[in-house]
Amino acid sequence: MASPVLPSSGALSPLGLDSVRLTPGFWGDRVALNREVIIAHCQEWMERAGWIGNFRRLGGDPALRDPVLRQGREFSDSEIYKLLEGMAWAGHPALPELAATVARAQEEDGYLNTRWYGDRYTDFEWGHELYCYGHLIQAGVARLRTHGEDELTGVVRRAADHICRRFMDTSETCGHPVVEMALVELYRATGTERYLEMARRFVERRGLPALDDIEFGRAYFQDDLPVRRARVFRGHAVRAVYFASGAVDVAVETGDAELLSAIEAQWERTVARRVHLTGGMGSRHSDEAFGEDFELPPDRAYSETCAGIGSIMLAHRLLLATGDVRYADLAERTMFNVLATSPALEGRSFFYANPLHVRVPAAPPEGMNPAAEGGLRSPWFTVSCCPNNIARTYASLAAYVATSDASGVQIHHHTPAEIHHEGLVLRVETGYPWSGEVTVRVVRGGSGRISLRVPPWAAGARISHGGTTRPVPAGYAVAEGRWRPGDEIRLHLPMTPRWTYPDRRVDAVRGCAAVERGPLVYCAESVKDEPPLALVEARVSPPVEHLVDGVVELDVEAVLVSPGADAWPYTSSPRTGGPARAEDAATPPATGTAGTPGPVGKAGTPEPAGKAVTPEEPVPVPSGEPLRLVPYHRWGNQGPATMRVWLPTAG
Ligand SMILES: [Zn+2]
Repeated sequence: MASPVLPSSGALSPLGLDSVRLTPGFWGDRVALNREVIIAHCQEWMERAGWIGNFRRLGGDPALRDPVLRQGREFSDSEIYKLLEGMAWAGHPALPELAATVARAQEEDGYLNTRWYGDRYTDFEWGHELYCYGHLIQAGVARLRTHGEDELTGVVRRAADHICRRFMDTSETCGHPVVEMALVELYRATGTERYLEMARRFVERRGLPALDDIEFGRAYFQDDLPVRRARVFRGHAVRAVYFASGAVDVAVETGDAELLSAIEAQWERTVARRVHLTGGMGSRHSDEAFGEDFELPPDRAYSETCAGIGSIMLAHRLLLATGDVRYADLAERTMFNVLATSPALEGRSFFYANPLHVRVPAAPPEGMNPAAEGGLRSPWFTVSCCPNNIARTYASLAAYVATSDASGVQIHHHTPAEIHHEGLVLRVETGYPWSGEVTVRVVRGGSGRISLRVPPWAAGARISHGGTTRPVPAGYAVAEGRWRPGDEIRLHLPMTPRWTYPDRRVDAVRGCAAVERGPLVYCAESVKDEPPLALVEARVSPPVEHLVDGVVELDVEAVLVSPGADAWPYTSSPRTGGPARAEDAATPPATGTAGTPGPVGKAGTPEPAGKAVTPEEPVPVPSGEPLRLVPYHRWGNQGPATMRVWLPTAG
């Protein structure tokens, strides 16, 4: 079956690309864009950057093997492998030639790395050699499952065997996880048990510790604690979720319930404390890492695209293992608000970081972007993990949509698709996420349950089939019966926009609220910072929907507040700490509000008023217009802009 994850046991079995075909719609259109634009874009840039040339040079004239000629960072090989994986899932015609280029650079004993050949395994903390193999192996698994053995899968088997010979009986591991889940999947695809055993040992030896301490501490690469003793995801976010994915895979294949429940508990605690509203993970730019609990600043949200992808991979594995709908819920949130956000609508530029608040319009990058801040999408990055990760994830996205078990089929993600399972053929028709109407039409009959996920925000959801309609709570709406061609199941998910408030412990957004509609997080976007979003206060009243070119945009009431004076912005009065507000201007000033004399002290002496701001009449946004909110995933497609998800609320 053509799926990136095929566990041998678990509550649910994936339905792969051969069983689920996405048709035009929100995700089907993006998968088509990937096949037609994104994959070629990635290949062009990696040619231009010389990263593919690294393989060509290594596999060619020995005189040209001089390391000084090598281009790109020490992990750039992994980018070619991720693209190969995407090409494999997409059935892309460029794969064989690119695979042959890679194959020629492999050494006799299976070793393959364009940076470290001749100097192998001298830097486990930062060398990324096993990380690169991990992505190579995932490409090979994709090829095995979509095509069968060929030159690429031969390269992969030789590399995997080399890893087992070299590392089975050592205490070493790689500073960047991914080889763990890759080896388990290669075991699943080939039945070769040493790959599973190697993965198990890599999972267990991390945290003993296995690596040298570094500037960010061992938590950066999850080497601070053995996996079973950790309570939460920490350190570098991509590393953390890739490692957890590998641990789930090992747990499932070895029947290790303790390991599985350790990861479930870490996931639960992380989701309760360390994840942004968008599903994005990571709060720190310096080490691309999770913050402490409730350290979720919107402007410093890192929320790397790859961390979102890793979170979707992890959630999918946990969903398959347990059948727990919460994993599909978080996967959906992350798909619509991180995965869909990274690429531009035209597919030729990408966000690396996905902050929830951008204060200053970014300057368009020239050429390869050395930074990852997230103010504007870039065509390519010096560290370009994210675009290739988008390419391989979009190419395999259909495999995340539906699953099966002994009772029937489960549809976790609502998008137009054709689903085949044991003779039953279903066609899903929906305008989701703009519309909450999902119709599942039976094309070829059969029997069994058909379960449709009902997200937690969809209060008032209903399901109709066989002439009856009934309300369904969050979880799965189940329709049962013998299905004949033409039968229909209709799911109605109310899509009323809603205001969402943060836990009080999320200090950075206390006093703010955000708007969501269905699975989408919305944001205010201001091209050229007009209106100035730093001065917006929103009123929590029902947002008004507008359909603009097929996209639902929302209007909320808001005012612009006075910027105040350029003075020390901290005072002894709780109200002068913020800008002047509409109510302040409209009502007789109470003691201590902005712009009025300071509060009266105990002795009746007014405190100096000089530090207070001068009130200016708040103006509506702009000149009487409501504030327009757009889906977060669409922001930044109009050029440089400011943006914010969390809006300070007025009154
Ligand atoms: Zn990335």
